[in-house]
Amino acid sequence: MSQLPLYVQGAWFGGALLFILGLKGMSSPASARRGIVIAGYGMLLAIAGTLLIPGLRNLGLMAAALLLGGAAAWISGRRVKMTDMPQMVAIYNGMGGGAAAAIAAIEFARGSAHDSLTTALAVVGALIGAVSFTGSCVAWAKLQGVLKRAVRLPGQNGVNLVLAGVAVALGAALILLGSGRPELILAFFAVALALGLVVTLPIGGADMPVVISLFNAFTGLAVGFEGYVLGNPALIIAGIVVGAAGTLLTQLMAKAMNRPLSNILFTPLVATGSGEQAISGSLKEAGAVDVAALMRYASKVIVVPGYGMAVAHAQHKVWEMAVLLEEAGVEVKFAIHPVAGRMPGHMNVLLAEAGVPYDRIFDLDEINGEFAQADVALVIGANDVVNPVARSDKSSPIYGMPILNADQASNVIVVKRGKGTGYSGVENALFYTDNCRMLYGDAQPAIAEVIQQLKAMA
Ligand code: NAP
Repeated sequence: MSQLPLYVQGAWFGGALLFILGLKGMSSPASARRGIVIAGYGMLLAIAGTLLIPGLRNLGLMAAALLLGGAAAWISGRRVKMTDMPQMVAIYNGMGGGAAAAIAAIEFARGSAHDSLTTALAVVGALIGAVSFTGSCVAWAKLQGVLKRAVRLPGQNGVNLVLAGVAVALGAALILLGSGRPELILAFFAVALALGLVVTLPIGGADMPVVISLFNAFTGLAVGFEGYVLGNPALIIAGIVVGAAGTLLTQLMAKAMNRPLSNILFTPLVATGSGEQAISGSLKEAGAVDVAALMRYASKVIVVPGYGMAVAHAQHKVWEMAVLLEEAGVEVKFAIHPVAGRMPGHMNVLLAEAGVPYDRIFDLDEINGEFAQADVALVIGANDVVNPVARSDKSSPIYGMPILNADQASNVIVVKRGKGTGYSGVENALFYTDNCRMLYGDAQPAIAEVIQQLKAMA
């Protein structure tokens, strides 16, 4: 690194600064788009700096990789549906981990002369990167519906431990015996890749977002370690930033689901039904006109959006409806559960896109005390995040997950298409309570009809 020209080091340093500024921008929906663009320029600068290293070889191969990767990212980025973003995040994340592992593999295969600390960091980065690569591929396959079931091996935790032990032992051998030994390198990577598969396959249902976030943190760490090996400060800083952000997000999500990380990884949830508690009551249907009247003459309405709102692209209609209610003197607030939808911040992004002001959007902790004073909780395409069995049924797979207290509102209206369960596959006791009515239909036309009725009432 010290032999590199100043302009290369400057470009890398500038890139790293832009990554940090970009991440800062991403901390609020208002500045997130700008943050992404700034981080993109950071990446451009870091790549330009790399390409300017004097005496660089394989420029043709690099150009081909940049063109192929850039085109694939451009096309998939433009085409991906909002509801498919988690899969995309998972697979891109896996690519980052795989790239870090590949850097280490090349360094080992070349037998590059490094001191033992650098080799040790390369090994740790390679292990984490390889686990993150196959683990993220499994996460992608699950979210994409390619892998429909959680696969649990007999003695799963024992198998995980043995594989982890073998991977660490092979890594130690690489450090002690030195690289340049193809059999050892192959065995190390085969075991590390298998470990990612085996650890992730049994994890199912509602735990997947936390796992993706954890792999995101892993990828950051792996990239940071390999940055050290290559003497590239842009990689080190980008890796540390991603690793820290991923770790914080993982902790926040695990807390939001009330699932310790160790529990998520080693005793995974598998949705098997609602649990042991029988759900009593019946489903009661309401029409758009009843729903409109109930909200039009209410003082306070809290809207709970969920995955179904994203599927139906109903966010614009929902905001149009909220404006009509506000014009009629109704106080309208939006309650966001930390794991509503299919990715962190999913609902915030959609509501921001629809133009909902940020001061109407509230997190679980901020709004949960207000449901008891609300006349109506309007649950739009949400299910697990308002399921009261999470509070009461110890046998339920979602037991312990904090939920939005929609059931405490005087009236609950649930907009959904039919009797479909949520992501966890658990039946929802809220829908059967006395104060709950179902407005059946795709969320977009259903809310459009409510809007028509509200306009007629005005
Ligand atoms: P959910 O529990 O998955 O429920 C979504 C509901 O929307 C379903 O019951 C479905 O019922 C309804 N729906 C689907 N399409 C619809 C449409 N077009 N119109 C109206 N309704 C529609 O959603 P959630 O309450 O948002 O909970 C999120 C779940 O996903 C949690 O279990 C969470 O752990 C998990 N998860 C979260 C993330 C994350 O990071 N946020 C990532 C992965 C998984 P019908 O079929 O009857 O319509």
